Amino acid sequence: MLPIIDATGKNIFGVIKGSDPILCNEYVIISAHLDHLGMIPFLIEGANDNNSSSAAMLGVAEALAKSKIKPKRSIIFMSVDGEEAGLTGSTYYTNHPLVPKDKVVAILNLEQVGVGRMLGANYHHEYPELAELSKKANDKYVHRRLFTNETHFLTRPRTDGAVFMKAGYPCMDLWALGGGYYHHPKDNTRSINPDILRAATEWLYWTAIFIADK
Ligand SMILES: [Zn+2]
Repeated sequence: MLPIIDATGKNIFGVIKGSDPILCNEYVIISAHLDHLGMIPFLIEGANDNNSSSAAMLGVAEALAKSKIKPKRSIIFMSVDGEEAGLTGSTYYTNHPLVPKDKVVAILNLEQVGVGRMLGANYHHEYPELAELSKKANDKYVHRRLFTNETHFLTRPRTDGAVFMKAGYPCMDLWALGGGYYHHPKDNTRSINPDILRAATEWLYWTAIFIADK
């Protein structure tokens, strides 16, 4: 049971403007929650949940900023706070969006991409094209086992991605699958598998480019 703390969270944004004069007004959002559990009462670092995703997102931001590839649509990088506290950052975003909802072509939400052997995508059932483009990215450049799963989110949201889907965004949760400690002191940097973290980061990079250029 988490203690109830009176605190203020912060969502943090970065943006790379699209190269197309018209399509730059449409957006691909990459999101990852930046918080974890902290001392409860042991330190739970959250290396996989969800520092791995923050690292992948920052890696893609740096790579895209330096790349000769200039995607047509703009790409927003969004660190959301308060996931563990009850999805507060993503819920706040859906009530206070940065850009018009109908200009968002995709939200790629990252969850725990630092442990495992396979990649997984849960996509909103109305947007199978997102999963197809993530498969294309994997087939062309990453070559990992990839499971895609259509989701309807009939139960209560348990990820920021579900919050975005319930709010009507074309969203896909990206995971690494197969192992790891969940909400446990052993979710620390020693448990991270650099190989799958790199694969997930490359997969995110190409998936974001394919969607931004579709
Ligand atoms: Zn968690």
